[in-house]
Amino acid sequence: MLNLVLFGPPGAGKGTQAEFLIEKFGLLHVSTGDLLRSEIAANTELGQQAKAFMDKGELVTDEIVIGMIQSLLDSNKDAKGIIFDGFPRTVAQAEALDTLLNNASIPVKGMLSLEVEKEELVKRLLIRGESSGRSDDQDQSIIENRISVYHEKTSPLKDFYKAQDKLYEVEGMGSIEEIAARLCDVVATL
Ligand code: ADP
Repeated sequence: MLNLVLFGPPGAGKGTQAEFLIEKFGLLHVSTGDLLRSEIAANTELGQQAKAFMDKGELVTDEIVIGMIQSLLDSNKDAKGIIFDGFPRTVAQAEALDTLLNNASIPVKGMLSLEVEKEELVKRLLIRGESSGRSDDQDQSIIENRISVYHEKTSPLKDFYKAQDKLYEVEGMGSIEEIAARLCDVVATL
């Protein structure tokens, strides 16, 4: 199984590039952000709990997201591979993912980390906010908070995967096609 973690700060282009990679390599796309937004749209209890964090640009609790991933893995045992997008976002989540996948002998093959400058991130998110209707993309202070939460809690995961020799840093500035080609070159070596 080709299990990949697509990594990077909010606005790095993970969703866009995931679309391309799932098509090219026949993988399943798992975006915790999308899963949480579906829960909110369906007005489930989990969705209501998650919304309170997401509206502020804070992380949803590890317990909620790990539980979602666990049931998703249970119901997709035949997948050719999975692209994790927006997960893991904390060391506890990465450890839980390792346990789940290693127990099933299908470990993460690599973390593809999209590297993008902060000014570009804010610009991209505000543009996305104009069309996506996502309230967390429409307010500069929520965006800034998401980026600082990323630096504080999520970016340490690069060291987590580096220690396992699985970190691949990919330049995330440039055209969508250029970045996709860079990602493809890396995935081809895995
Ligand atoms: P972006 O990467 O642009 O911030 P996402 O759709 O990945 O967009 O995430 C939106 C929000 O959903 C995050 O700000 C956070 O509140 C919540 N979220 C998504 N994935 C996770 C996760 N793995 N752990 C905790 N919170 C998450």
